[in-house]
Amino acid sequence: MFLTKDQAKAMLMKNMNMSEEDFSEGEKWVKSKCTCADCPSYVASETDLGFCWPSIGQSEHIHDEKNCICGQCPVFNEADLQFAYYCTRDSEVQQSWQMTQERAADGGRPTEE
Ligand code: SF4
Ligand code: SF4
Repeated sequence: MFLTKDQAKAMLMKNMNMSEEDFSEGEKWVKSKCTCADCPSYVASETDLGFCWPSIGQSEHIHDEKNCICGQCPVFNEADLQFAYYCTRDSEVQQSWQMTQERAADGGRPTEE
């Protein structure tokens, strides 16, 4: 199960106490700072950037994961992001939510001895 972009957006806005204006400014900031175009995974047919942002998310053009450089991006550091390969694995909110779901599912299984 995946969050829709609207659900991911709503989750970020709630968690960060953001207004619509804050969200829109955040999106502009992410797009302006995004360094994905310098990444080996990037393909020229992709014209949108800022895949870590919930309203952008996974690329429809990038499919191969090659040495993600998100860790060197100012957005990654300033926003204290935790994941990578946003172009293929979707936004920070989506990946974080998925991880929480997987951990909850693991917690329901009996532990191995
Ligand atoms: S963290 Fe990655 S996807 Fe997000 S703005 Fe930076 S380079 Fe782009
Ligand atoms: S999200 Fe990571 S792997 Fe994808 S294009 Fe951006 S820097 Fe490269």
